[in-house]
Amino acid sequence: MNKPKVVILGAGYGGMITSKSLEKLLKSGEADVTLINKHEYHYITTQLHKTVVGTAADRQIAMSIPELITPSKTRFLQSAVSSVDIHKQEVHLEGGDSVQYDYLLIALGFEVETYGTPGIKENAFQIRSFRSSKAIYNQIIKQFNLYKQDQDPSRLTFVVAGGGFTGVELLGELADGLPKLCAEHDIPFEKVKIVAIEAAPSVIPFFPQQSIEYTTEVLEKMNIELITGRKIIECTPEKVVIDPNIDIPTRTLIWSCGVKGNSIVHNWGLPIVRGKIEVDSYLRVKNMKNVFSLGDCSLFMKDEKNALAPTAQVALQQAPICAKNIIASIRGESLKAFDYHHKGSVASIGLKVGVGKVGSVRLSGLIGGFMKLVIEARYLFNLGGPSLILKQHFGVNRAPIHAAAKSKIN
Ligand SMILES: Cc1cc2nc3c(=O)[nH]c(=O)nc-3n(C[C@H](O)[C@H](O)[C@H](O)COP(=O)(O)OP(=O)(O)OC[C@H]3O[C@@H](n4cnc5c(N)ncnc54)[C@H](O)[C@@H]3O)c2cc1C
Repeated sequence: MNKPKVVILGAGYGGMITSKSLEKLLKSGEADVTLINKHEYHYITTQLHKTVVGTAADRQIAMSIPELITPSKTRFLQSAVSSVDIHKQEVHLEGGDSVQYDYLLIALGFEVETYGTPGIKENAFQIRSFRSSKAIYNQIIKQFNLYKQDQDPSRLTFVVAGGGFTGVELLGELADGLPKLCAEHDIPFEKVKIVAIEAAPSVIPFFPQQSIEYTTEVLEKMNIELITGRKIIECTPEKVVIDPNIDIPTRTLIWSCGVKGNSIVHNWGLPIVRGKIEVDSYLRVKNMKNVFSLGDCSLFMKDEKNALAPTAQVALQQAPICAKNIIASIRGESLKAFDYHHKGSVASIGLKVGVGKVGSVRLSGLIGGFMKLVIEARYLFNLGGPSLILKQHFGVNRAPIHAAAKSKIN
């Protein structure tokens, strides 16, 4: 008898942990599982700021997928998905190949939201994937080299748009990591300017006042120029323009102002609401029995009006339930509804300290920084057990990954 074919699109947080859960839960020979991802590596999005400044080896952030899966249980296909034919149950890949499925999981993640701001798509850099983060690192080095030729101060001005968690993590990493990078490239760090622009009245505006004050104080002590309550109205290759028409000369704007669901799924005949795939309480695509979706490309309503936020925490909690529901569907058993439990959020601010909340406990300082390390280690543990934690910290291959760098937002 033909085994049911399970196909997973995307090896981010959601796709990767669903594959690992299926490896554990499926009986031997019960199904054929194929994981499709456009790159050979699975990247840790929550650590991408380290790639931007070069404070982590490439393989600490982008781990080889074949080394993370069990090849006898999961077939890995490195390929970019171009479309899905829901009626023929077929996934089409760039290059013309196709893959048949009986059960499909769409976990293709997010893309950057520019809100139509002029010049952002063409000129800003994004911290979205390993490749786009590596492109920012390459841009910093390029500007260092050009500065040596023309001493143009705009080359050493690095602007981060967005003072949410991602922006704050990036600002802290730039402040702590750039002195070393400058020393390595013979650039006077005192000439470097780091600027943060946030449209809300403060950084991390959704957090309690004490956390906002702590974060603001740390960033200011790091000599970061904080501009709050102002919007970016344009970006050109040489400057950023903020409300009301003030120019900030820079060659490097890093845009970290929000995300939306991956638009590749929009023309596949799926129910799209608010730009994302609408799923039911079992993580099945609405009105479909054999197609599932989770993470940032999906819309899971937590109540009548509000959807779950696009976070790694959501994708990671959905993945094991999704794996169980795929197996229950194969076996003809009843499915389990997904129930989200928010455990808190913690952001690093540079190499040592952090800010956030776990449960009802507010964290800051060294404890906040330590908690961020614990959260990252816990993820590695879930992905590959204690041996992966040890390997990622002590035995990682330090050779750079030669990713064809994709620079600007598309
Ligand atoms: C810089 C940054 C920091 C963040 N920090 C935090 C944090 O601290 N805590 C938190 O909870 N959340 C954080 N998030 C959000 C979190 O990373 C996302 O919510 C999470 O990655 C969503 O998981 P996912 O599986 O849905 O998608 P992703 O992890 O984005 O995975 C999607 C996968 O699909 C692949 N893919 C996309 N298109 C194709 C295609 N056409 N063909 C084949 N493969 C494709 C991608 O390469 C990727 O591997 C952060 C996000 C960013 C950008």
